[in-house]
Amino acid sequence: MAETQSPEAVETAETVPVSEAESPANTEAAPEERLVIEHPLPPAPIITDGPWASAHFLMEEYACDCDGYCDGWPAEMAPELLEKIEALRYAFDRPVIITSGVRCDQRNAEVGGIPNSWHCFGHAADLYCPGIPYTEVARVARTLGLGVIEYPGQAFDHVEIWD
Ligand SMILES: [Zn+2]
Ligand SMILES: [Zn+2]
Repeated sequence: MAETQSPEAVETAETVPVSEAESPANTEAAPEERLVIEHPLPPAPIITDGPWASAHFLMEEYACDCDGYCDGWPAEMAPELLEKIEALRYAFDRPVIITSGVRCDQRNAEVGGIPNSWHCFGHAADLYCPGIPYTEVARVARTLGLGVIEYPGQAFDHVEIWD
């Protein structure tokens, strides 16, 4: 990421400028800035032909990330959830990072999910939006009709649909 970006370029950039985090001016973060996720951005855009879950998300971003207990798809992702997450991305016009989509029962148990979590049915995802407080992501997600559980400790949100 070039450090000489014009403000205009920053506004339209697909990713959050890394230089923001490196700026000495940001060493004393305002309280609300601590709500922003501290996870690093993915190293590079994923280059692939898909298949796509929605306009900006690859289906593989939602696959079960277990170590071989399943083939990655113990259930199909609910299309309505995928559309709502795409709408969430549209609302912020920034990348939204999926940290967990569908899970097999074994993976769900490993990560401490509740038994019969909506993740096991492809009806839930965990996500964050770099640069946006998780509380704001949660607020907008609720306006889109998503059920939301906020995880302040790790600054991400669990979103789900019920039908
Ligand atoms: Zn699995
Ligand atoms: Zn979750």
